[in-house]
Amino acid sequence: MGGRLGIEAEKHKTAAEEAWLDEVASIGCVMTWHLYGSYAPAQIHHLFDAHQRSHWLVAPLAEEFHTGPNGFHGLGGERGFRARYKLGEAELLAMTLKRIAEKRRNA
Ligand SMILES: [Zn+2]
Repeated sequence: MGGRLGIEAEKHKTAAEEAWLDEVASIGCVMTWHLYGSYAPAQIHHLFDAHQRSHWLVAPLAEEFHTGPNGFHGLGGERGFRARYKLGEAELLAMTLKRIAEKRRNA
């Protein structure tokens, strides 16, 4: 594949992937839940190595925590994000899966 992918570049999605991304986005930003205990609309962040990017490995982040100056990309990635918030992508994935499990249990 030639050229660098932009942040969260579009990639073909199956119907199942599309449904998963919708469900992940629907829970709202996991960092806003974590820090403030409230809902904020979220963008989809693809976790881990950009070359392994999978639509199944995603976390919902508000712009502030995603592409803003104090967001994952604004802070230069995992290292800077972890230095600031004491958590990284593995924790973002865990928080995402936990909230979705809770939402399904309460549905
Ligand atoms: Zn991202």
